[in-house]
Amino acid sequence: MLARGPSENDLQTLWGAGVLPPYAPILYPGASFSAGDLPAEAQQELKEYLIDHPDVLVDPPPELAALIAALPTNVRTDIYVEQRMEQLRREGLLTGPNPGGSYEEWIRNTVEKGVSADTVIAIARDHEIGPDDFEVLTGLQEITDPDGKSFFMLNTDMSGDAARAAVLMTYILNAGTDYENGDFESTPYSSAEVQRIIDRQEANGWSYGDDVGFVHGNGGRLVTTPNGMLMGAGGNELQDLYGQQGGTAWGDIFMIGKDDIPDPAAYLENNLIRSGTSDVHPDLDLDRLLHHEERHSQQWAREGYAWFILQYLWDAHKFEEDAGLADGGY
Ligand SMILES: [Zn+2]
Repeated sequence: MLARGPSENDLQTLWGAGVLPPYAPILYPGASFSAGDLPAEAQQELKEYLIDHPDVLVDPPPELAALIAALPTNVRTDIYVEQRMEQLRREGLLTGPNPGGSYEEWIRNTVEKGVSADTVIAIARDHEIGPDDFEVLTGLQEITDPDGKSFFMLNTDMSGDAARAAVLMTYILNAGTDYENGDFESTPYSSAEVQRIIDRQEANGWSYGDDVGFVHGNGGRLVTTPNGMLMGAGGNELQDLYGQQGGTAWGDIFMIGKDDIPDPAAYLENNLIRSGTSDVHPDLDLDRLLHHEERHSQQWAREGYAWFILQYLWDAHKFEEDAGLADGGY
């Protein structure tokens, strides 16, 4: 065997006997190894080898790709995260080792949600997203909903610009809103959707420039949401425009309508985010309610502040229909 080199049969025998190193599939790309044969330590060893040699992960031979795909989910996800970072490095969009933190969480979310590498590269390139951009989320309380999506509680001394950046980065980080079975088709996570949110934030800039400080100054609290807007509770109400439905979308801020909440931060965390439902409609998925409210934010952006208020008062139904009646609890 040594004289002629190992045959396919030899390799299978050695692999099955546990004699070959876990990275044998890289050394012998023509041979087909089964991940099912690998004991847990060898799976870890293979994973560590690949993470230390991420260049192997860009355009891997099909046998290696199949082997990785057959590994247990938690092991292969770690490998795919590193693979995706290596693809970003090759595009000049990331330098150095895995930066960890929210950047790694972003890449992991895109892997777990089946977002394509092309989409991730497009977002990073078009919007110049790098590890530094996620720093605005550092130090904020992260709260996850029943699907595992992340919301971030704004600190009450945050500037409007920081709040705006935190909202956008929360959309990017989550890599999807989980909106489904609602009044509309869901919009795929994309670079174009990031741009749409940036443009809407600019049109509703007064939400960040004025109202974030106003809400905080009056004892209210605000969280960023996966669909790229703010949700708030408590304090003095901004204005009771859609009060009977339990909340008011005021530009980019959805203020829930309940009065006299002693601890608005705890209310947002427990009654909305962790429950994953509307506080006034317990059967209504929060993902759907937020989709409805974000469409109101789009209406504010499209019509402009004063004109939107006038038109809404004139024909509320038209705007509620446009935002999705069932999604809004109608
Ligand atoms: Zn509505």
